[in-house]
This record gives sequence, C-alpha cells and structure tokens, in this order.
Amino acid sequence: MPMRTQDLDHELIQAAAQVARTRCRGDNHTMAAAARARDGRIVTAVNAYHFTGGPCAELVVIGAAAAQGVYELDTIVAVGDRDRGVVPPCGRCRQVLLDYFPALKVIVGQGDRLRAVPVTELLPESYVWADHQLDTDPA
Ligand SMILES: [Zn+2]
Repeated sequence: MPMRTQDLDHELIQAAAQVARTRCRGDNHTMAAAARARDGRIVTAVNAYHFTGGPCAELVVIGAAAAQGVYELDTIVAVGDRDRGVVPPCGRCRQVLLDYFPALKVIVGQGDRLRAVPVTELLPESYVWADHQLDTDPA
C-alpha cells in the first residue's frame, strides 16, 4: 500500500535533489540517488554513465552504502539533473534492488503523486534470484 504523502521521506528526496543539483556534471553523471539506511543514515551517490553499461545511481549508492558499513536500506529515491525531479528506477535496478533489499521502499511519481511503493510492487511476478540458488552443500 502506498504511503500517504505526509509520510514521505522528504528529507531523502531533498538529499538526492541537492546532489543532483550540485554534483551531476556533463554526460557522465546525470542522476543522483539517496538511500535511507535502516539506522537512519542517508547515503548518496551519482551514476557513472558508460556505453558498456556503467551503473545507475541506484547501484552506485548500494556500493557507497557498503563502503560506509551500511548493508540494510529502507528507502531509495533517484533524482535527475537539470531539475528533472524524481525518476523511477530502470528495469535492471528494480531487479538488483529487489534481490539486495526485498523490503525496500522506492519513491516514485511526480508532484502530488509522489509516493513510496514496495520494490516488489515495481516488479510483479518477479524472478527472485535467491530462490534459485540450489544448495549444493551435502550437509
Ligand atoms: Zn537503473
């Protein structure tokens, strides 16, 4: 069920918007992401565009969080540069976010339609990688 607008993590959106406004540059860094850790911390990152498949901001933020010892994310949001506002995650990111953080909430939408939805809702009938790792340990 979507959260009510007043429950939205506006501080998180502002953090991503601030990074998008001040740190994005040229064609290499065009998106910012901010994630709320379970312990309350906010971790931010920008994408690293490359034609070979450079990671989106949502993926960079996973690594940036781990580099700070943060392995449990509660909510994530991505904001585009040049005042594009909140941008929903691409298909690849939806899959990665689901596999890393099955209980993650993702902020999507624009204006008064901004809302936080469970990542599972963004990927119906999803493939859950962990469900298909067959245990080969003879124990
Ligand atoms: Zn992506």
